[in-house]
Amino acid sequence: MKNIAVIGAGTMGNGIAHVFAQNGFKVNLIDINKDALEKGIQTITKNLERMVVKDKITNADKKTTLNNISSYTSIKEGVVNTELVVEAATENLDLKLKIFKMLDETCAASTILATNTSSISITQIAAVTSRPKQVIGMHFMNPVPIMTLVEIIRGYNTSDAVTNTIMKLSTTLGKTPVEVHDYPGFVANRILMPMLNESIETLYNGVAGVSEIDTVMKLGMAHPMGPLQLADFIGLDVCLSILNVMYDGFKNPKYAPCPLLVNMVNAGKLGLKSGEGFYDYSETRKAERVSKQFLK
Ligand code: NAD
Repeated sequence: MKNIAVIGAGTMGNGIAHVFAQNGFKVNLIDINKDALEKGIQTITKNLERMVVKDKITNADKKTTLNNISSYTSIKEGVVNTELVVEAATENLDLKLKIFKMLDETCAASTILATNTSSISITQIAAVTSRPKQVIGMHFMNPVPIMTLVEIIRGYNTSDAVTNTIMKLSTTLGKTPVEVHDYPGFVANRILMPMLNESIETLYNGVAGVSEIDTVMKLGMAHPMGPLQLADFIGLDVCLSILNVMYDGFKNPKYAPCPLLVNMVNAGKLGLKSGEGFYDYSETRKAERVSKQFLK
């Protein structure tokens, strides 16, 4: 496998393109939004420069990596002659179904179609294609160039051959793949999201404030980051959407999102990306806790 397409140049897509390109693959990075595409390339360039400064790669490596990436605003043009497509577009079921239908019609019959979805059923996505054996979840973690785990999710019909190919490919990228089955939240988010939700519930119930909850988990459980800050970094809208997928999928109230999380998302407090969540990320009040207003 040499030629890869990555759909979506946002947070995850640019990281995925970076990792493939740095490992010698020719990558077509595709985003319908021209500005997002340019921003994605700028992010990759900045991250490579940081690696040069830290002596992790040479200037020549940086150039080769950037030369391995071509940009496209059209999926149809960007997927020509690719052996693998990794979809990392916005987390929206209808959008992903539309993209996979188009990919199935456009790509060669042998092309493997992977998705980086955090929560949408691989089996449901595969069902809109005529090649469900070749559809698989390739769930990279954020930030992709740094985090070594790739959760490999087999849909109901994903073949052993395709799973083995993607497991081996992930190892080639310097990652550690872990194979899991296709149930809501897979493994990573099924375990992580209830913990984040419970931290929000603890805040909502007035048991402790933001920094107190995060400090307990950092110092007491040796977590590198508190759960409320992690929720801010992931995006509170993303957390809410994943919890809703698990709540709907299992019909179990233990996954019901905390009302405070719902309120904050409705109020546009999405965490780091919107400038405020459980912490304030604006320039003047960088990462200051804003716990009080959320206590009952
Ligand atoms: P993002 O919003 O940063 O980027 C999404 C990009 O997709 C945008 O640039 C948008 O313009 C582009 N896009 C939308 N529709 C498109 C289309 N039809 N064709 C091409 N490009 C299109 O989102 P993200 O955080 O990078 O998430 C992408 C995927 O990765 C989602 O499925 C998400 O669940 C998953 N994911 C996210 C994280 C995370 O921490 N952010 C972690 C793991 C997995």
